[in-house]
Amino acid sequence: MSKINDIVNYLQKENVDAAWITTPLNIYYFTGYRSEPHERLFALLIQSNGETVLFCPKMEVEEVKQSPYEGKIIGYLDTENPFDLYQQSFKQILIESEHLTVKRQRELTNAFQIEHYGDIDQVIKDLRNIKSIDEIKKIKHAANLADKCIEIGVAYLKEGISEREVVNHIENEIKKYGVNEMSFDTMVLFGDHAASPHGVPGNRKLQNNELVLFDLGVIYEHYCSDMTRTVQFGTPSKEALDIYNIVLDAEESAIAAIRPGVKLKDIDKIARDIIDNAGYGQYFPHRLGHGLGLEEHEYQDVSSTNDNILEAGMVITIEPGIYVPGVAGVRFEDDILVTENGCEILTHYTK
Ligand code: MN
Ligand code: MN
Repeated sequence: MSKINDIVNYLQKENVDAAWITTPLNIYYFTGYRSEPHERLFALLIQSNGETVLFCPKMEVEEVKQSPYEGKIIGYLDTENPFDLYQQSFKQILIESEHLTVKRQRELTNAFQIEHYGDIDQVIKDLRNIKSIDEIKKIKHAANLADKCIEIGVAYLKEGISEREVVNHIENEIKKYGVNEMSFDTMVLFGDHAASPHGVPGNRKLQNNELVLFDLGVIYEHYCSDMTRTVQFGTPSKEALDIYNIVLDAEESAIAAIRPGVKLKDIDKIARDIIDNAGYGQYFPHRLGHGLGLEEHEYQDVSSTNDNILEAGMVITIEPGIYVPGVAGVRFEDDILVTENGCEILTHYTK
């Protein structure tokens, strides 16, 4: 479990006793064991001496044993206090301050006699930011399945069909390819309904000569894809087609600049400048993209305020859009792996 070693090394370097990890996805990241504990305690304790302890409900212990996780397991009954089963004291501990509740922190203080707290959030974000070969393989597969979803959706378009019907068809058909879960609620929006960037598919019927926006993703072995295509059904209006071409140019220009060492904000700027210069700046109200992996949106932002640089192994989305109320909504979104020399586009459906 080399990822656990990264935390152990960090603890040793910072001279901190332990880290207390509680986000289920982060526990999965370090242990290979995925669980949704609801209100029950589920936590991974990583100590600077290399020892790890996974706290989980007793009924899950057998499953944990089948997982890649090799450390100590404390399985507790609903009637037991988990901390009675593992007595330790730590002077300092790092927590996920973005996840741990105040109540849990109080319990932790009492149980381990903790004197000082620090944060482990950013350390984990930095690890997850760079994907392993195995993670990249899974994201690529998820991206291929997203391509398939768009293909299924486009083939199903016909005059009079509703957005909801297309969504249902895609989600049913993709199950045949082994997909159990979408990354988020599939979005299919017709015509000017797509001008609402987070519109909800409904009963709107497809008319001839409209644009259709698909935004969807699937989860494959815990890893997400997230892609958007806007396609022409018939021949849309000139303004709709102009917008379509501007967004496409913005997206392709931004992707062409992706390589290690470039600032994320400079990638955002390339797309934003093209849209600004075409006179549609006010209709592009969101960041250019985001990190992608175990979560559909994860660290880090491709935005005008992010000074960080691209590094090989990062996976990000690039998704400029223009949304003009009453006219059209257009977005293109691809999943991009940053490589040593440039980038690899993981989503392929034609634009
Ligand atoms: Mn999306
Ligand atoms: Mn996205």
